Amino acid sequence: MKSILKVHWDSNLPIYAISQSELLKKGIHVLLLDVDGTLVNRKSTKIPKSVKNWISESKKLFTLYLISNNPSKKRIAKIANELNLRYKYNASKPRKITTLHAIKEVTSESKNIAIIGDRIFTDIIVGNRCNIKTILVKRLNKDGLPIKFNLTLIIEKLISFFFK
Ligand SMILES: [Mg+2]
Repeated sequence: MKSILKVHWDSNLPIYAISQSELLKKGIHVLLLDVDGTLVNRKSTKIPKSVKNWISESKKLFTLYLISNNPSKKRIAKIANELNLRYKYNASKPRKITTLHAIKEVTSESKNIAIIGDRIFTDIIVGNRCNIKTILVKRLNKDGLPIKFNLTLIIEKLISFFFK
């Protein structure tokens, strides 16, 4: 049985270091992007320049869509508007419903889609449950740099190890 905890690409990189050509090589044309921790630090709405550049490059090559579990429409709308991207907030990942709605909006080809996020128990699980590719990235700190010690991820990986 395929585990819902399976990460297709555990990049060990912040999102802005993910190579777009590598994504294209994997056949990916649509990217669902987590917001908190992935594009911005959870406690900030300031989008790092590196992330903005990565998004504007990626827009030329992929269809992008933000999917956040954050219940604050104000916060997620602000970030989405600044990046000029469609979004869902309060998405209840790993529940499938909102993510499936977003997928339906953008395409019918689930094999071309990947979700990029910083958490296994939300982003990766929902990706596997929706039958799309899953990419794990490093969480960003307030300076927009990857955090070195991510206790949440260590715990999630430990639990994943025992449940695989
Ligand atoms: Mg996140």
